[in-house]
Amino acid sequence: MTMIRSGIYVHIPFCKRKCYYCDFNSYANMEDSFFSFKEAIIKEIKTRKEELKDIYTSVYIGGGTPNVLPPIYIEEILSEIYENYSLSNDAEITIELNPGLIDEEKLKSYKKAGVNRISIGLQSWQNNLLKAIGRIHTVSDFIENYGLASKYFDNINIDIMYALPNQTFENFKETLTNVIALKPSHISCYGLILEKGTPLYDMYERNEIKLADDEFELMMFHYGAELLEANGYRHYEISNYALPGFECRHNKLYWMDLHYLGFGPGAYSFVGNKRFGNIKNVKKYIDMIYNDGHAVDDVDELSLEDRMSEFMFLGLRMMDGVNDKDFKERFGESMFYVFKDAIYKNMELGLLIKEEDALKLTQNGVDVSNNVFEDFLF
Ligand code: SF4
Repeated sequence: MTMIRSGIYVHIPFCKRKCYYCDFNSYANMEDSFFSFKEAIIKEIKTRKEELKDIYTSVYIGGGTPNVLPPIYIEEILSEIYENYSLSNDAEITIELNPGLIDEEKLKSYKKAGVNRISIGLQSWQNNLLKAIGRIHTVSDFIENYGLASKYFDNINIDIMYALPNQTFENFKETLTNVIALKPSHISCYGLILEKGTPLYDMYERNEIKLADDEFELMMFHYGAELLEANGYRHYEISNYALPGFECRHNKLYWMDLHYLGFGPGAYSFVGNKRFGNIKNVKKYIDMIYNDGHAVDDVDELSLEDRMSEFMFLGLRMMDGVNDKDFKERFGESMFYVFKDAIYKNMELGLLIKEEDALKLTQNGVDVSNNVFEDFLF
């Protein structure tokens, strides 16, 4: 398998309806803009082809809900990428799909366009919980869609969530058990994050919903990790599990702090020492791209210290941790020297462990990972 190099992210900012917990850059009721958006993103892909000359080992079409678009648009977007960028022969090409809007015609079209990995957002196996968080699909929609998808794809991720409002431990157990029984190659398991400005946040403020406390949330996380590992899924990143050979290459490139180009409204790119993002508003994005092929709205020049810190706290998200050889290759000195205080403190606390040349989170470290990461900021 080709070593992981650079990646391409394509943001499709449309959803059929907004889920109550979602603060992603996605919008409902914008069907009128689908065509002009597609034309704009194709122009952006073409215009920016000189920005990052490398071999691309992954493409990720995310959102939003990419499957709200006519599938021919996805084919056109991918063929524009193939025409303008060098992809490795075994590049991982993922598309995110939401249940309720998946059909055979779309799956055939994605397959034809070179997609070889799909990611389906289930979240929970209980219709009442799906409804409570504003998902548009039911469990039976998911079962039907998953059955269809597995006819065409053997590399499938299922997203599930814990710490949902009013979710019981039994609910979570049922979700996990039924998902494992489907044997997807990859499972992402995220705890709900209550984001300000979302309907769920307002419901919480009005005392209309009850959320899991930290202890209950941690208990679900541990239960999930144990059950998934017992069923052959390797816990390779804090929230991600995969059967052997199916770790998500695209997500790994973020944690490995490698370069990527992001196309579409609100999409970020990372090239050289610069991280820069497109404007979030879809109509403004389309206008800017039509006018001069670019829609950059936010540029962040990273200092050497920023780069080193990011390398550490992104890398430590992976259970294999950060290897000093890689740190030295990137920055010319040892992480054990640059971050000696942070490393010493967290090893003393039993939150980090050194194994040969690598530094990893311990089980206790995983539970309080954000506190550990903070120590790696200058
Ligand atoms: S489908 Fe995904 S992106 Fe769309 S509203 Fe729901 S959580 Fe947000």
